[in-house]
Amino acid sequence: MARIYRMKCPACGNVQNLNGSAPCAKCGAPLDVNQPASITLYRMGNVMGAAVGFGIYLNEQPCGAIANRETVTIPLPYGQYKMHIVSGMNRKCNDPVFDLTPQDPHICAKVHMKMGFIQNKFIIERVDPSTMPQE
Ligand SMILES: [Zn+2]
Repeated sequence: MARIYRMKCPACGNVQNLNGSAPCAKCGAPLDVNQPASITLYRMGNVMGAAVGFGIYLNEQPCGAIANRETVTIPLPYGQYKMHIVSGMNRKCNDPVFDLTPQDPHICAKVHMKMGFIQNKFIIERVDPSTMPQE
């Protein structure tokens, strides 16, 4: 499976998947996947809600969806990013904050849904890159 890059166009805000640097499909602005930092997110398999996309938010900005057992790499400039996941009525999340720095530029994380009595909750956990599924 090819790596999926997810980028938000800085010019028009369009969110799209890329498999390499390419122009924005909406406005034609160049999208460069070679950013100094990135967050790679893997969605762990889950029978419940398997068909439903989980919506990804970075610093309150929508960043597209992630399907079951999908891995998405979001190239980013250095900075601090709060990650939030929603799906339908499930809006509870542990909202981790990732600091992307020159010392620690590439963060890998996994998300899964923790079943709750009243409401389910998304748990995003930073993981060692070696534990990510191989492509
Ligand atoms: Zn654009």
